[in-house]
Amino acid sequence: MNLLLLEPAELTDSGVATLVGRRARHAQEILKLTRGDPLRVGLVGGNVGTAEVLQVSAETLELKVTLSQPPPPRAGLDLILAIPRPKALKKVLPAVASLGVDRIVLVNAARVEKSYFDSNVVEPPHLRELLLLGLEQARDTRLPELLIRERFRPFVEDELDSLFPAPRARLVAHPAPDAHAPTALSPAVVAIGPEGGWVPFELDLLSAQGFRPVSLGPRTLRVETAVPFLFGWLEGRRVLQNRPP
Ligand code: SAH
Repeated sequence: MNLLLLEPAELTDSGVATLVGRRARHAQEILKLTRGDPLRVGLVGGNVGTAEVLQVSAETLELKVTLSQPPPPRAGLDLILAIPRPKALKKVLPAVASLGVDRIVLVNAARVEKSYFDSNVVEPPHLRELLLLGLEQARDTRLPELLIRERFRPFVEDELDSLFPAPRARLVAHPAPDAHAPTALSPAVVAIGPEGGWVPFELDLLSAQGFRPVSLGPRTLRVETAVPFLFGWLEGRRVLQNRPP
């Protein structure tokens, strides 16, 4: 945990926060904090800053908090993700939150197993917990907005424009023999397929909405590998493009 995240309801007007549960245990057992120790904190949806330990036990952690810095800038990338296996989802969501994504839409696709939507991982408290883990990792405070859409076609045809208005590059990740990069980089929304890949019908629907294919080359990657690779690749290109000559 690189940043201890506080919920707004845990913080009083006088800047004292009282935490129970996982974070209190982590503070005592892993960070071995004692009275007077400093630590990095952030307010969910707000600033980051420092705190001083007032009291710590296995049950409770009491802090005096000062929040003075904004969280890191946004990545300018959003994600449409064909819902992966619960095990993969547990890895992808913290990673995506740590990369600073603003909005994630988990969608159904032809090659998604229907049972994935019934998994307890997909329940809102669990999803939120996974996103918070990513924020703690990246010292960020802004929770991505997470939407679940079980009907792919109405989502793409009727809802996509209002969720991802122009100007925003639309990219669909699909393996191809050669890597090919998009021309427009950011802000962008990237659609990542299921383990079995996008089917032609889905690629056609996305193409009709202006999604351009982007390939990382002939190696077919697992979703949990493809997402950070793709984001790193786009960010790297953006940095190079914005570099003064
Ligand atoms: N069996 C599928 C691969 C699915 S991998 C196929 O051959 O198409 C799951 C998803 O990760 C893909 O739909 C794509 O969105 C992304 N992905 C994996 N490897 C990729 C690559 N080399 N280039 C672009 N996207 C990739």
